[in-house]
Amino acid sequence: MRPLSDVHHLLKAFEGRPAAVSASARDPVNLPMIRHWCEVMGDTHPAYSGEDAIAPPTMLQAWTMPGLSGGTAARTGAYEELFALLDGAGYTAVVATDCEQEYVRPLRPGDLPTFDTVIEAVSPRKTTRLGTGYFITTMMRVQAAGRLVGTHRFRIFTYAPDPGPAATTTTAPADPHPARPRPVINRDNAPFWAGVAEHKLLIQRCTACGTLRFPWLPGCGRCGSPAWGTVEACGSGTVHSYVVVHHPPFPAFDPPYAVVLVELAEGVRMISNITGVPPDAVRIGMSVELEFIRLDDGGELPVFRARSDRPDGAES
Ligand code: ZN
Repeated sequence: MRPLSDVHHLLKAFEGRPAAVSASARDPVNLPMIRHWCEVMGDTHPAYSGEDAIAPPTMLQAWTMPGLSGGTAARTGAYEELFALLDGAGYTAVVATDCEQEYVRPLRPGDLPTFDTVIEAVSPRKTTRLGTGYFITTMMRVQAAGRLVGTHRFRIFTYAPDPGPAATTTTAPADPHPARPRPVINRDNAPFWAGVAEHKLLIQRCTACGTLRFPWLPGCGRCGSPAWGTVEACGSGTVHSYVVVHHPPFPAFDPPYAVVLVELAEGVRMISNITGVPPDAVRIGMSVELEFIRLDDGGELPVFRARSDRPDGAES
């Protein structure tokens, strides 16, 4: 790997230069986008619906996003030059680090936001756990009808990925059968995994209101009570939904494989793997039965076997 040169003095010259000039939102502020946002965020505040609706202030950046297809439309030559310089010097990776927003006045349906963005600051070269590079801060001012609506300061870290020890050694080829990831066991779910070790699938049951819950949580989502007991699942269920994973490949998993959301007979749902059926034969509504598989280190995992008594079940 060639040594990285410090290009801070070159990057510094971009401070104060524009990254976007008089750019326009792709769509005027509108109720459907507001509604989708509120649904995703779970925000039921009454100010965001009805005849006098305003847009949630935190949607500020959403109006200015270019979308996947128009990614560079609003960018200036200065912004493109800055990233060409970083790329050329080997700082090819980017991660967003933080943003700060200030809200001045609300946006309402029909407003067409416009924005100007300035390359505000470039940090000296820093080394983080990700690698060595530069923090780049941009400052966007959003307006509507010529009046300031809010500001959005956005910081990214542009860096040369740390190649790590693997890239500097040529010995020790990768383990062809890496171990499957272990479950993360903590104080909230330890009794569940203790049950699994005894081949029991335990569902939490709120002792205050009786609601069953899965996965395990410290409190009841219905009544808030922290008191709980358990119910042992009978082991029968149906495939409520599933995905077949082809990509990306993860060590210890051989794609394609199916990840299923099983609805247990008791009514709660659980994400797991399915056995006894090829991934392209998994179907919604398929009957499944709990079984346990043993991991390399002796641990156990609850999975579900497709029942062959179904016409659409496993033939193989
Ligand atoms: Zn409860």
